Amino acid sequence: MNNIVENINNIKKNIPEYVKLIAVSKTKPVEDILSAYNGGCKVFGENKAQELQTKQPQLPNDIEWHFIGHLQTNKVKYIAPFVSLIHSVDSIKLMKEINKQAEKNNRIIDFLFEIHIAQEDSKFGLNAEGLAEILKSEEIKKLTNIRPCGVMGMATYTEDFDQIRKEFKQLKQVYDSIKQAFFMEKPYFKEISMGMTNDYTIAIQEGATMIRIGSAIFGLRACSISG
Ligand SMILES: *Cc1c(COP(=O)(O)O)cnc(C)c1O
Repeated sequence: MNNIVENINNIKKNIPEYVKLIAVSKTKPVEDILSAYNGGCKVFGENKAQELQTKQPQLPNDIEWHFIGHLQTNKVKYIAPFVSLIHSVDSIKLMKEINKQAEKNNRIIDFLFEIHIAQEDSKFGLNAEGLAEILKSEEIKKLTNIRPCGVMGMATYTEDFDQIRKEFKQLKQVYDSIKQAFFMEKPYFKEISMGMTNDYTIAIQEGATMIRIGSAIFGLRACSISG
């Protein structure tokens, strides 16, 4: 249990202060999350809407919950009342549903555009052209209850660190060009969420402002790649 706090402190010691650490608690019990919380960590990431909906009421109210997994439109309602940031938005359809649920809850929901950077085609996400198309569309102007705050991406699951670095550079490039073309006057569009347990050092070197760390904090998960 104390290991969790020790792990968090070790990571925090080694990252710049401007980088936000998101403790990825998916599959882990609320007791583990509470240990991390009592050790000073207030930001957690989950990847399943119902799991998050179940855990949230059992834990302190000032936790900042980030949703980092693939989000089906019919599950947005479970997290809309409290979620702080949705990292994984990759379609207008999903944006519309988040906007609708945000409106219902009388709030504005922050989100990131998920960009596909990995070689594997199983991963979700937009490419640069798809994103530009969304941002140019008339439809999104009506979505006043959601706020785009940046981009997120996942590198290929590989030991080839050159490949990973290349993919993070690519995400930074997409961010820069989108920022330039659509968000120059929007200070809130500033986040690049990239980097996990095995690659966060590279991600920070390549411009990450948020890293999402699970196993280096909570230990290995039963199903450690996607679970
Ligand atoms: C599980 C997960 C992480 C954390 O993975 P670790 O390798 O355990 O640090 C980060 N981002 C997403 C989207 C995840 O699903």
